[in-house]
Amino acid sequence: MAVLMATASCTAYRAALESSGEVVGERTLVRRVGWLAALAQTMTTQILTERWTGAALSDLASGTSSDGRALPAKGWMAVRRLSWGCAAPAGVYVPERVRRIAEEEAARALRLALHRRTVLAAVCATWPADPARHSEAEWRALRAALPAGVSTAQIRNRTRQVRAHLTAHGSLPIDVTGLEEVPVVAAQVLLAAADKQLVTLTRATAVPADAGASGGPGTDKGGGPAAGDGHDGPQTAVLRVKLPLVAAPVSRADWAWHVIVFTVPPHVPTHAAWCAPTLRVAAHRLRVDLPFTVPLPVVSAVGHRVGLGLDWGVNTLLTGTVARLTHPTDDGLTGKPGSGRTTGPAGGRVVSDGRMLRYDATAISAKLHRLRAHRERLAAKRDHYAALLPGMCAPHFQWADLQHHHARAAAEHERVCARIRRLNHALAWSAARWAVDQAIATGAGVIYLEDLATLQARGRRRGNARLSGQVRGLVVAAIRHLAAKASIAVVTVPARGTSKYCPRCGTGTSVLQHVAAPDRPKRAGWKWARCSCGLSADRDWAAAERIVARGLLGQSHTRTDRATGHRTITVVVEGNVARARRPRAEARRVRRANRTGRDSFVRPDRPGPTLGKGRSTPKRPGRPPRVAQGARVVRGEAGLAQASRRVPEWRTVPAPTTVGQRPAGHEPQSGHPLGSRSGRARDFQHRTGFHRARATPVIRLSAEYGPRAGTATPTQAV
Ligand SMILES: [Zn+2]
Repeated sequence: MAVLMATASCTAYRAALESSGEVVGERTLVRRVGWLAALAQTMTTQILTERWTGAALSDLASGTSSDGRALPAKGWMAVRRLSWGCAAPAGVYVPERVRRIAEEEAARALRLALHRRTVLAAVCATWPADPARHSEAEWRALRAALPAGVSTAQIRNRTRQVRAHLTAHGSLPIDVTGLEEVPVVAAQVLLAAADKQLVTLTRATAVPADAGASGGPGTDKGGGPAAGDGHDGPQTAVLRVKLPLVAAPVSRADWAWHVIVFTVPPHVPTHAAWCAPTLRVAAHRLRVDLPFTVPLPVVSAVGHRVGLGLDWGVNTLLTGTVARLTHPTDDGLTGKPGSGRTTGPAGGRVVSDGRMLRYDATAISAKLHRLRAHRERLAAKRDHYAALLPGMCAPHFQWADLQHHHARAAAEHERVCARIRRLNHALAWSAARWAVDQAIATGAGVIYLEDLATLQARGRRRGNARLSGQVRGLVVAAIRHLAAKASIAVVTVPARGTSKYCPRCGTGTSVLQHVAAPDRPKRAGWKWARCSCGLSADRDWAAAERIVARGLLGQSHTRTDRATGHRTITVVVEGNVARARRPRAEARRVRRANRTGRDSFVRPDRPGPTLGKGRSTPKRPGRPPRVAQGARVVRGEAGLAQASRRVPEWRTVPAPTTVGQRPAGHEPQSGHPLGSRSGRARDFQHRTGFHRARATPVIRLSAEYGPRAGTATPTQAV
């Protein structure tokens, strides 16, 4: 069995004091958790400030304490073994477990710094003659010096950091402590480091009618997993935690047990095992980050007959195709190892159903591009004000104005960054959900993707409106997570040459001609692929066919990374892809779905819409956002700065949903290519969560199509 680990973010609205049953409202609860987080943050910062030296980092890296014993794996224990433990601030009493939390957080920050230090040492040791570009030999030397699993982005970031230091000081940095300031830790409470003297977490045996407000919560303790399976109702967790009653507690009496009852989101399976959560305060809400583990059956890397191949587009985020290996007992599953690029085996044929699956995020990609440009403008403005400020002394009549402008630019920049982050996240999970749903609905046991590492090396960076590599990384991570839950394997295949050669003929020799459009075959372009064999198809679709063929035919070359569990095929096994028709009834269903744009597939693991419920539940009217009142505290500034109303502090991007609410933005206008209010409206929002993400509908289709085993030519449907 494998284990899937994930974190569910929950919100707690109120608590009850265990001793008296007194209800603690949200505002008070948030304040008390904030005090605890601030205490832990202060103590962590104290340790980090004292130990932010090369010698201390070397002590931690050596893995042994001064008496020769090995350091424990647990961070707080290692910190204590090195006698780096912290004390509470003067005049403040904290339980011993709170000190543990602070020490654990410090140990994690320092261990992360150790990793950066190793990368930095490798980058400095192999510093190239010309910092702007590494030669092939320099890259090899750098890769040899680096520890395994360091990504290209990490190397790039360290190199930039060193280059900046070199420009400023004229020398390479000695250590990470000379290059970076003391790490800043977040205000959060890592309850994982504490034990039952500070925290307990249990499942509620029954869902209370008024969660948190019910008295006598001690009776909820000790319950096993919630009764019932499937989606009988939301799971409820009972978190008992000791919180300070004042900002600076002076004695044991200033701490009290609080019982916090919160609802666990429905995507956490009922059989999942919960771990101790992390508490943090975000936007005046108490967030409970609940890690959980789910045992999953191990998915085989080989023996797949039906696969989904996905290609990355420039603006079209994903283009895919489903293909099937016709003779599972043929060479196709055993391959020809060690021969590098081989031609397709004579018997095993890859047959596609000729249906292009596409997740087109052009409009969202353009939005991201506009936001990125806006972010750059704001950063330039902010830096300009910052540069002007020191030149003006305080009595200057424009001093206050300038400071106000600077604070406002900084606040707006922060909000635009957050907006980009949330949009990236929402887009990535929406696309991943769509891709995994397509795989489930068509009976594919494996998803083949291009290897992002080889994709970047190829340098496909062109055009401004392209989706950033960051989104692609997020999509891959999300697909891996969702596919693991559905027992679908995810395998990366080499990206080189996927859109260069024809998938229909030639097996890696017939070069495709790329033109602007199918009706303009003479005009060179990007979007359309043509071949002398008669193939005329979307460029990304042709590439997706090659990807799925490489995956299905090269299964025997699958390698699994021991550390990450990620699967890769590094050997290119080429084979032609034929197309076969689906049975008539299925083809008709596909046509109908394409016409309406509606899915006919509901995920097996989610509840359907409630019968008789015509609309989504309206949101509770909450506290008005602070921006509406025209004031917002800017971090690092003493006064208040007013941010422009054009940049809202919060902009919700809803999660992908079948029955959920409509996202922010306008409804497509009548006559708009995306749809109209007439009967033939094509509603893309219902699955993707975005009005303007055009995604192929998900339809449940049989995995058995094309020729029977033993039939040579795949022409007729079964
Ligand atoms: Zn061809």
